[in-house]
Amino acid sequence: MFERIDYYAGDPILGLMDKFLADPNPNKVNLGIGIYYDASGKMPVLDCVKIAEQRIAESTAPRPYLPMAGLPGHRQACQELLFGKNAQAVQENRVATIATIGGSGALKVGAEFIHQWFPQSKCYVSDPTWGNHIAIFAGSDIEVGTYPYYDSASNSVKFDEMVSFFSTLNRNDVVLLHPCCHNPTGMDLTQAQWDTVLEVIQKHELIPFMDIAYQGFGEDIDSDAYAIRKAVDMGLPVFVSNSFSKNLSLYGERVGGLSIVCPTPDEAVRVFGQLNFLVRSIYSSPPSHGGYVVDIVMNDEALHQQWMGEVYGMRDRIKAMRLALKSVLEAKLPERNFDYITRQNGMFSFTGLTPEQVARLQSEFGIYMISNSRMCVAGLNASNIDYVANAMVEVLK
Ligand code: PMP
Repeated sequence: MFERIDYYAGDPILGLMDKFLADPNPNKVNLGIGIYYDASGKMPVLDCVKIAEQRIAESTAPRPYLPMAGLPGHRQACQELLFGKNAQAVQENRVATIATIGGSGALKVGAEFIHQWFPQSKCYVSDPTWGNHIAIFAGSDIEVGTYPYYDSASNSVKFDEMVSFFSTLNRNDVVLLHPCCHNPTGMDLTQAQWDTVLEVIQKHELIPFMDIAYQGFGEDIDSDAYAIRKAVDMGLPVFVSNSFSKNLSLYGERVGGLSIVCPTPDEAVRVFGQLNFLVRSIYSSPPSHGGYVVDIVMNDEALHQQWMGEVYGMRDRIKAMRLALKSVLEAKLPERNFDYITRQNGMFSFTGLTPEQVARLQSEFGIYMISNSRMCVAGLNASNIDYVANAMVEVLK
């Protein structure tokens, strides 16, 4: 009966994690999955989260189902982070926001919405992108294509090609964009480049779908949301999926949000209703624990400040690791240019290593990164950075 069902080879990123865990090499280093580890190599529990969880534990409140759209405080937190405090579109009730099961859940509900209400639209993702983008949209029966983005030869964005490609797309085609900390390349657009891209999107009446999973890890909370806020100011019909997995270090709690910015409050009511309907028909309502944490941390002034400090601490540690890695590599291989390491933002560095070099790092040194050469810089620390840099030198020689 089930013989015709295809085997699933597993997810390349999650599968690499299993392989890492099973590796007996005492020097092994995990630079595969996009998780932030602190200076001692541990996944942190943020202090602001500990305080919020203490408050939750002390309350004996029952745990009813949450509304389909999640907690109002969670939704408001998404809106303030993405669009800014007192954003005009939010005040005019033009933004439909639901809390979602992580950033992935936001992408999925957004994809289902597009499939149902914009059935002619194709979705274009950057080449390369986070692999699950393609799986999520294609899984909702949307035709997925790629747009030119990264030039491995020069370690930079193929900006002109990207812009000309956008101008060939059809009205209401969806372009999936990473407002900051591009995954997997770490290479972002400048604000001036965003202005140009958004003008082309506006001119050709495309739908920008902004997926922001690393807000706060690039420059700062506000600058990282530049593209989103600019698109809203221009009056574009913006979709935004956001994730709190990384910036609250709440990976397993599955907290995120989906926001759709509409031209009028009436349209926002309709869109919000349909998002609720989709949630109801897929998983009914989101889990509550992470939602309470988001609500408490983001809406309590002191905890919010503390959170920003903690996010910037993570950001700064990654930047320090980039500098340290670059300086060892430059010292040992002076003929090569490693500037790209510090030009990239966020957790990832596209190292440009060949799949063979990545495989050697794994088999000879127990260093795990994605075969497309993506390294999670947040897995580096003072105890492993020389080991990793020297191993990279060995495979690059
Ligand atoms: N978008 C991007 C660009 C990501 O990197 C990730 C996480 N790797 C997600 C979305 C999904 O976020 P979450 O883990 O919260 O589902």
